[in-house]
Amino acid sequence: MRVAINGVGVAGPALAYWLHRFGHEPVLLERAPALRTGGYVIDYWGMGYELAGRMGIVPELRERGYLIRELRAVDAEGRTRSSIDVRQMRQALGDSFVSVARSDLSAAVLAACGDVETRFGVWVEGLAQDADGVDATLSDGSTERFDLVVGADGLHSQVRALAFGPAERFERSLGCVVAAVPMRGYPHRDELAYVLHTVPRRQVGRFTMRGDESLGLLICRDDAAGPGAFGGPGDPEPDAAAQQDALRRAFGGMGWETPEILSRLGTAEDFYCDRVSQIHLPSWSAGRVALVGDAAACASLLAGEGTGLAMIEAYVLAGELDRHRDDIPAGLSAYEEQLREFVTDKQRSALRMRGFFAPGNALALAMQKIGTRIAAVPFVTRLAARGFNDELELPRYEDDPR
Ligand SMILES: Cc1cc2nc3c(=O)[nH]c(=O)nc-3n(C[C@H](O)[C@H](O)[C@H](O)COP(=O)(O)OP(=O)(O)OC[C@H]3O[C@@H](n4cnc5c(N)ncnc54)[C@H](O)[C@@H]3O)c2cc1C
Repeated sequence: MRVAINGVGVAGPALAYWLHRFGHEPVLLERAPALRTGGYVIDYWGMGYELAGRMGIVPELRERGYLIRELRAVDAEGRTRSSIDVRQMRQALGDSFVSVARSDLSAAVLAACGDVETRFGVWVEGLAQDADGVDATLSDGSTERFDLVVGADGLHSQVRALAFGPAERFERSLGCVVAAVPMRGYPHRDELAYVLHTVPRRQVGRFTMRGDESLGLLICRDDAAGPGAFGGPGDPEPDAAAQQDALRRAFGGMGWETPEILSRLGTAEDFYCDRVSQIHLPSWSAGRVALVGDAAACASLLAGEGTGLAMIEAYVLAGELDRHRDDIPAGLSAYEEQLREFVTDKQRSALRMRGFFAPGNALALAMQKIGTRIAAVPFVTRLAARGFNDELELPRYEDDPR
């Protein structure tokens, strides 16, 4: 089966890995001119972590990543208000938890793909499908035929737009905006700790990385800089300078290290800012075009498990396509049947987390503070971490006789 996969983030290379391992011919396409480096750090655990184990990349992820020890909440003067021992959480998850740059996870999965054909700076621009295949028009002007085209091109997927229609039909805003600000030579460092300061409607975090690097993370309600300041679904791609201005307005007046982090906005390489949204589609495929990862069913960073979901979806999609190698539509239905309820559940859990990242008002902030203090009790930390375990039994497609 020859499959075009648009997007080399997490879901794309994971799908390519499994399809290749099952004897098919994936072709990876990526709009960026090269694999992205740097960027934000993700927490990685659960079934996605188990799949990384089956791919053999866990040692590399642990080497490139961070085994965080502490989640610390501070007040406007930097005084500790509560501290959660993340080691207790890791222990409760059987040590299967690592924080790693999303780009390092992406690079590790891609490296595991071996000789899978990968083209950077080339992407799908048009699709024409019939009963036997899809003609994909690529950005270099060529047209190629595939058995299946998969959109693994993230929250703002172009393949989804081509096959399903404009984003505003499927993107559900969670009313927040997130920005990641990589900072070199930042003077305040707390190794293996994520330090955060929260006021109503806004949260600022800082994570110390290797070498001379740190990461600032800003999350606020999307009207914190005035209505429409950060745009909405269907708007043209936002301009980084306008986003940075809106962030300065939204976070102006906050204490702790906020002014220093804001002062880095203009010079941050790989600055990232986007609305926090989910994707809700009636179906994850349309004929011979399918979606995977954030493109299909983004749960958002509030769910905290987007990369794990991307890995799980990629594995199940590849496995079901292989099991139904003579009937692609049946494989696509089986993929969705296996995962839809599980993924929808994760999307619901993201909504419950909004109050932690950007509590709506002073009362919600007070509740969040009480919650984090309770969660700092070791027994409660371990108990809460157990709730992070995925309740899903993954098939072992790699053991299927071929
Ligand atoms: C600030 C932040 C923090 C997060 N924290 C966590 C966390 O702690 N834990 C966690 O598990 N998840 C976290 N997530 C979510 C996680 O990053 C995503 O769910 C995950 O990366 C989804 O993987 P993906 O491959 O579907 O999409 P992406 O990783 O977004 O990859 C999409 C790829 O497609 C490419 N692309 C885009 N458009 C096109 C196009 N037209 N043609 C070709 N290629 C294209 C992009 O360049 C990119 O390489 C966080 C997200 C954010 C924004």
